[in-house]
Amino acid sequence: MSNRIYLDWNATGPLLPEVRDQMQQALEGVPGNASSIHQDGQRARSEVERARRALAEAVGAPAQAVVLTGGATESNNQVLRSHARRTDEPRILCTAVEHPSVLEVVEQLGEEGIDVDVVPVDGRGQPDLQALEASLREGTTLVSAMWANNETGAVLPVHEIGELADEYGAVFHVDGTQALGRIPVDFQDLGADFMTLSAHKMGGPKGIGAVVCREGRKVGPLMVGGHQERGRRPGTENVPAAIGLRAAAEAVSARLEDWNRSLEKRRSLLWDALRESPVPVELRGDPERRLPNTLNVAFDGVDGEDMLLALDLEGISASSGSACTAGSLEPSHVILAMGYPEDEARESVRFSFGPTTDRDAIEDAAERILSVAERLHGLA
Ligand code: PMP
Repeated sequence: MSNRIYLDWNATGPLLPEVRDQMQQALEGVPGNASSIHQDGQRARSEVERARRALAEAVGAPAQAVVLTGGATESNNQVLRSHARRTDEPRILCTAVEHPSVLEVVEQLGEEGIDVDVVPVDGRGQPDLQALEASLREGTTLVSAMWANNETGAVLPVHEIGELADEYGAVFHVDGTQALGRIPVDFQDLGADFMTLSAHKMGGPKGIGAVVCREGRKVGPLMVGGHQERGRRPGTENVPAAIGLRAAAEAVSARLEDWNRSLEKRRSLLWDALRESPVPVELRGDPERRLPNTLNVAFDGVDGEDMLLALDLEGISASSGSACTAGSLEPSHVILAMGYPEDEARESVRFSFGPTTDRDAIEDAAERILSVAERLHGLA
């Protein structure tokens, strides 16, 4: 179908035009290995360092704080794994709504004998800070919390969580993947020990991301066999991806405010249209503290998977949760953690968009979504 509407930016977004152009030039013109000493190598090295500086600037961190990695899944694994055994009695906690690249590592560490705890969330997807503090009191060594949730768009109180973690001497990790490019992200102000990021949610390429480390905090490598990234991420640097990451980070630095405002307008436009539906529709997530680009909704009695399949046929790409767990028949762990019973959790559908999603696309999408909801509700 020619006029498809892409509303799945929290899974991944298209490259920004300038990112694509600069990556294209790099693919054709930068042949070197960033570790080689000849001029082609030096050019590649200089591109990698420019990428590091641009990302650092976009998140308010010094360049030397940034370790480039293969994306946020890798970064999350790396931070958690390299701090899991920081002390003789490690205890790790995270929230119940983390991305699987945090939650499953924590589960695995638990199976390996480490003391772990998962902090519950309320009906809006916000962590219970009292439960968090009670758990911290038991001698927690590392706390991991996401800045913004990929499924509901809820923005978590990461500053408050960080203060609590600090009070109890725990290392604090923030998964900032969904926040970057949508809301202001300032690492210095956040006060976390580590923040993990990915380029492809902000118009950059897939397969590159970062761990940002607070001064004096070290992260070990997940792999061995190379000295790249000062031994913290072995493997030949992906220079075209680094160039794409740089262009995307520069766009974030220059345009975040505009993006934030226009995304918010698009989200209101879509929600205002959807709530007109004769089929009762519920907003899932936090109606106040939330990303400007994400709407998680449930149409009464309409199965989310049925809805997504029907929408796909109508030319709309959306999702019911994390793409990393898509395809599983289980309802979303995030919506379940918010207290919804299984059948209601299965009704959740997520629409997420980006800076190049225009008003017409949202209006057109709303019409198609409403007609599909009505049709499926009638069948239900
Ligand atoms: N954390 C969050 C919150 C995410 O939304 C995602 C992507 N779905 C990831 C981590 C993983 O990022 P990547 O695709 O770069 O591995």
